[in-house]
Amino acid sequence: MKAFIKCLLRFEGKGSDLHEGALGTVSAYYGCVEAQGRGTLHCHMMIWLEGGLNPNEIRDRVLQTEEQSFKERLLRYLEDTISTCIPEYLDEESLESDQHSHPCSTRGVNFNNAMRNKDVHCLAKKCQTHRHSNTCWKYWRGPPEPKECRFDLDEKNVHPISTVDPVSGEITLKCLDGLVNHFNATILEAVRCNMDIKFIGSGPAAKAILYYITDYITKSQLKTHVALAAMETAINKLEEYDPHDDDCTLRAKKLLQKCAHSMISHQELSAQQVCSYLMDFEDHFTSDEYRGLY
Ligand SMILES: [Zn+2]
Repeated sequence: MKAFIKCLLRFEGKGSDLHEGALGTVSAYYGCVEAQGRGTLHCHMMIWLEGGLNPNEIRDRVLQTEEQSFKERLLRYLEDTISTCIPEYLDEESLESDQHSHPCSTRGVNFNNAMRNKDVHCLAKKCQTHRHSNTCWKYWRGPPEPKECRFDLDEKNVHPISTVDPVSGEITLKCLDGLVNHFNATILEAVRCNMDIKFIGSGPAAKAILYYITDYITKSQLKTHVALAAMETAINKLEEYDPHDDDCTLRAKKLLQKCAHSMISHQELSAQQVCSYLMDFEDHFTSDEYRGLY
């Protein structure tokens, strides 16, 4: 994650000189590490760009007719940064028998354009193509409810050109393959694993993300470090010896202690999470300091 922040986002610390990275000039970021069903650790990250406008300002400017060049430049930037289909590779048949087409087979930097083109093609095909699985319909309640992939990937989601809704200002990116998770080619080339990227450029998009995050946070189980901190506080408090405690108080303390222990023992943790915790790896990455809001 540190290499990603330094070399791909090109962010070298608050107050340091700003450099242009794979997505532009990053002014701030906020990322949390979490585990998915199989336990694999991954990071969800929000990135702010230097000189960036807030979603309302973007909407206002893309809707103004005298700001056509802004709209065009924005769409050009987005199409350049966010890929929505597998990059073409003309010699597709040769890949079948080619052992070098596996994502793990390329190491280091590739300066040969034809090789890079082939590499990104293979990477995107392997890592970014969505195949529906049972988890896609996890929340489907059956007919008459339409059976829709909850990741919103569908062959029918094809848009030949990028468009801006003339009323809401909502941006729809050009998309030639509805089953491809959006990616940044440079990042994909470097991290060599699946990724997803989304531009938050309108009020509705910002609201959708905010809803998703809030929903996600309130549904997920207690975070490990929060639970451990709670247990530590509970145990310290309960173990304090007080000569005035009567039998009843002592029993109440024991009960609370048992509750704290069972709360922790019911936490589901993946091996990767345990390792990461024991190795003292961080579980969040931020450029700024934040305060809790209750
Ligand atoms: Zn799906």
